[in-house]
Amino acid sequence: MKLIDGKKIQLEMIDELHDEVEKMKKVPKLVIIQVGDFGPSNKYVAQKKKVGEKIGIEVEHIKFEKDVKEEDILKKIDDLNRDKNVNGIMVQLPLPDGFNEDLVTNRVANDKDVDGLTTDNIGKLFDGKKAFVPCTALGVMELFSRYDIDLKGKHAVIVGRSKLVGKPLIACLLKANATVTVCHSKTENLKDITRKADILIVAIGKKYYITSDMVRRGTVVIDVGINVEDGHIYGDVNFDDVKKKASYMTPVPNGVGRMTVISLMKNVIKACREQTK
Ligand code: NDP
Repeated sequence: MKLIDGKKIQLEMIDELHDEVEKMKKVPKLVIIQVGDFGPSNKYVAQKKKVGEKIGIEVEHIKFEKDVKEEDILKKIDDLNRDKNVNGIMVQLPLPDGFNEDLVTNRVANDKDVDGLTTDNIGKLFDGKKAFVPCTALGVMELFSRYDIDLKGKHAVIVGRSKLVGKPLIACLLKANATVTVCHSKTENLKDITRKADILIVAIGKKYYITSDMVRRGTVVIDVGINVEDGHIYGDVNFDDVKKKASYMTPVPNGVGRMTVISLMKNVIKACREQTK
C-alpha cells in the first residue's frame, strides 16, 4: 500500500502558492465569518489563518457572538461583497442552532464564494461551467492528480452525499471521466457496492466504519472522515485493517484535512486573480 501523504502535499503547495502570491500585484484577502465559539470551528479557523499567513494571504477573522441577529451577519456579508479589497468570503460552518445556513451562505457574492457553497456555484459546477470547487472535493482531486491516479473509466464509489463533500465530488469525478456511484445511509447492501470500487471515497462521520471485508484488493481508498474521540482524531476507515488490501490510502490525520485548508487558499488566489484581471 502506498500512503497518500496530505501533509507532504500541503507543504509542497504552501511553497508553490507562496511563490505565486509573491508575483501578484495585490495581496489576496480572505474573510472568515464565525458565529459562536464552537471548539472545532475555532481550531479550523486557526489552521486557516496559519496556512494563509505562510502563503502570504491576508486572513481576517470576524467572530460574532452566538446571539447575534441573523440580519447583522447578512449585512456584514453585503458590506464585504462590496469591499474591493476583499477577494474571498467564507462562513465557518456549522452555524449555531436557529440560523439559516442556506440563507447565510447564499448571501456571499458568487465571485467571492471561495467555499463554493452557493446554489449558483453548485449549479455551475454540475453544468460544467467555471465555478469554485468546494475545498474538500478540490483537495481530494488534487491528491489524485499529484499521485498520478488515473480516474478515466474507473468505478469511483462515494459513501456520503453531503453538500460539502459527496455531492461536489460527483461533479468532479464525472468531469474526470470516472463512473460514479453514490451511497448514503439508506443504501442497501453497502458492502456489495464498495467491493466493486476501484476508487473508494468515504465521508460519513463514523469512526472506522469501513473495514477490509468492504474493500476489494487494489482499491484506492480516500478517507475524508474526521471523528474526534477523547482528544484523538479517527477516520471513517479502519486504516490498519484496510491497508492490507488498498493500493493507495490517505491517513487520518494528515490526509484529506490538510488538503481542504490548502484548497481554500487556492480558491482565494483564483478569486483574486479573476477580480483583478
Ligand atoms: P454529513 O453528516 O453532512 O453527511 C454524512 C453523509 O454520510 C450523509 O450523506 C449520510 O447519509 C451518510 N451516511 C451516514 N451514515 C452512513 C452509513 N452508515 N452508511 C452510508 N452512508 C452514511 O457529513 P459531512 O459530509 O459534512 O462530513 C462527513 C465526514 O467528513 C465527517 O467526519 C466530517 O468531520 C468529515 N469532514 C472532513 C473534512 C476534511 O477536510 N477532511 C471536511 C468536511 C467534512 P444521508 O444523506 O442518507 O443522511
